[in-house]
Amino acid sequence: MAQYCAVHSNNEAIAICCTCHTHICVKCHRFNSLAYAICPVCEVALQNFEKTLFPWESVAVSQMPVAFFKTVKNVIFSPLAFFTDFSFWHRFDKKRKEGFSRALLFGILCSVFGVSISGYYKFLFVEDFVPELEKVLAASSPEITLQTAMPFLVALFPIIGLCAFFMHWFMLHIGLKALNIETNWSLTGRITAYSSAAYLALAIPPLAQFPIGYLIAIGFLVQLETTALRIVFQMSAAKTFVAILFPFLVTMFLYR
Ligand SMILES: [Zn+2]
Ligand SMILES: [Zn+2]
Repeated sequence: MAQYCAVHSNNEAIAICCTCHTHICVKCHRFNSLAYAICPVCEVALQNFEKTLFPWESVAVSQMPVAFFKTVKNVIFSPLAFFTDFSFWHRFDKKRKEGFSRALLFGILCSVFGVSISGYYKFLFVEDFVPELEKVLAASSPEITLQTAMPFLVALFPIIGLCAFFMHWFMLHIGLKALNIETNWSLTGRITAYSSAAYLALAIPPLAQFPIGYLIAIGFLVQLETTALRIVFQMSAAKTFVAILFPFLVTMFLYR
């Protein structure tokens, strides 16, 4: 049976876009740098991607702050385009392996910043937090006061953020492996890293004790990871749900 172009319903499809898998006709047929067929939408996304993700993974150190915010903007506001090209790049362009540590740095920066700031907010916005903390400290040793413990507490939040990132990476990898998805540590690590942009929403302060930033961060994290998994592994909605839910529940259980 003949397939028709996703855009021009009268034209017979001559190829399938290697990135988004839509049918494309002669008019829509484009090539990427490796001469694979792509659709016009993916062509534009790919060009944008070249300008956004790769700068973060390959720019000079002095350009990194700008590249960081550009990447955050792209992950959060155009996750579909971002992960579409991410997926494309990962499958066909293996030359860019050296950017992996930069990708991890991106994820770590987002997690450490988000978790730290949400920790510091507890001192400011959670009413019982300081008295409860003083009780715990007093119970552990009479010599420890909030003042003397403060430097350790301040340093503790970034460490929790760092652990959260690696835990997230590990759990997602295990979740995917449990579902028999073909992945590797570097691919799962990159997905975790870029999805971690969601943690930045933790910078939104609570409104009258209501944890807005926390809820937005969780929502964004699920959204970004769902998008990434569906695009990168072409997983069904149900499988994606299981892969994300499993690590999510374990993390929730551990942090309870
Ligand atoms: Zn496409
Ligand atoms: Zn067409």
